[in-house]
Amino acid sequence: MTALGETVSVAGVIVAAGIIFVALFWVALAFHVVRDARRRSTSKSFQLLATLLGFVPPFFGAVIYLMVRPPQTLDEERALALEERAFLDPAGDEPPRPCPNCGRDIDTDFIVCPYCCTQFARRCGSCSRNLRLGWSVCPYCAEEIGVHALSRSTRAAGR
Ligand SMILES: [Zn+2]
Ligand SMILES: [Zn+2]
Repeated sequence: MTALGETVSVAGVIVAAGIIFVALFWVALAFHVVRDARRRSTSKSFQLLATLLGFVPPFFGAVIYLMVRPPQTLDEERALALEERAFLDPAGDEPPRPCPNCGRDIDTDFIVCPYCCTQFARRCGSCSRNLRLGWSVCPYCAEEIGVHALSRSTRAAGR
């Protein structure tokens, strides 16, 4: 009789410990679901739905939540948006300008359009910076260019 009573109480302790463990796991899982929902959405209704799913059908609700949650956390979304903006608008680079003749985008330090071969600037022979065609003196190093030096070939012929 006493041996049977002891067996029953030991089994009861094991069952009770099992129930407590399962209950703790359920609560921990529900809190994890709620925290994950906050990381993925600022919407109050979504967070409420996640809380309900985490608690009401134990374990099964968490599985449903895994299927309906947004694929990215808010941090991941922000990082992606920043990356996209950096790709579209690379900081530091000068914006391209249109060619005065054909209108295609070319770099600001080009002196000849690579598409239509129009020359709209020339390089200073002394400091190699870009000069407008009408200038007769380099504004960067005060090198005299003169009206004869419209292209490299005429410059070479003049010397
Ligand atoms: Zn052009
Ligand atoms: Zn110069």
